[in-house]
Amino acid sequence: MSKDYQYLFGPVPSRRLGYSLGVDLIPFKTCTMDCTFCQLGETPCAVSERGDYVPMQDVLAELTQWRDRGGQADHITLAGSGEPTLHRHFGDVFRWVKEHTDIRSVLLTNGTLLHSSEVRAEAVLADKVKVTLSAWDEVSFQQIHRPAQGVTFDLLVKGEQAFRHEYLGELSVEVFIVDGVNSQFSNVRKIAEVLKTLNPDRIDVNTAVRPPAVSGIGPSPEEHLQAIAEIFGPNASVTASFRKPGGISLDFSEEALLGLLKRHPSSCKQLADEFNVPADRIFKTLKQFVTAGLLCEEQRAGTVYYCCRDDV
Ligand code: SF4
Repeated sequence: MSKDYQYLFGPVPSRRLGYSLGVDLIPFKTCTMDCTFCQLGETPCAVSERGDYVPMQDVLAELTQWRDRGGQADHITLAGSGEPTLHRHFGDVFRWVKEHTDIRSVLLTNGTLLHSSEVRAEAVLADKVKVTLSAWDEVSFQQIHRPAQGVTFDLLVKGEQAFRHEYLGELSVEVFIVDGVNSQFSNVRKIAEVLKTLNPDRIDVNTAVRPPAVSGIGPSPEEHLQAIAEIFGPNASVTASFRKPGGISLDFSEEALLGLLKRHPSSCKQLADEFNVPADRIFKTLKQFVTAGLLCEEQRAGTVYYCCRDDV
């Protein structure tokens, strides 16, 4: 991705979405929650007020430029540095995609603002929507997500239920498992009861495979996640381990590497897989960036993860 783009990133390969061009409408890291497992780090101050966080005309101008330069992707996805529905006009991106491309659009949202009919009216414009549900009551919601004032479990669930009623596209729900917090089968069954009321097309079971915001938050083992997926039913599967879809890899450049690490702390092996470039070449570049002060290293369960420094 060229440095001409401030709001676009990727396209990044994803198991479910193939090549996905990311659109980031939110300054790093602005969110309605401060999830303990967030791979972007801690939210300095969780907010729930919607606004024009970045100029929409500039975002649409970048999309137009990307398309005119022959940009190709399987999906265009609203995601990135925080909660995209905080942007008052996020639906404009979906209108643009429908009007100007044959590409399918995706909204990744934590679901906390779907209680607003205005937000739902924009969210239904996406071809696919993924929301989150990792808690079963207010106490677990506060413990796991540390939301902004006024954002409650009840509002989250009511908003997601209302959205399911109105939305005809593909709705998936991500359940993020925090080991020892919501991973016990008794708690998983409670989450399953709430999930039933959302009637999602798909349930993705995820865990903290990358360094989370809070140290001490750990991933659940894969076999345990498989057992959790079974409790959720036949449309649930484990998505925690990144697996490269056949034949898709990112174009490697130092800029692309830094762009990816800004949003996804990764190990050298993960990066080698994602760029389809020998690990020793990636390692050499990573070390140069660490020496230059652009990246920092973080040890996690015996693996070194590379993250963009906050001030870069
Ligand atoms: S995981 Fe998502 S919802 Fe939670 S703090 Fe991070 S960006 Fe926000």
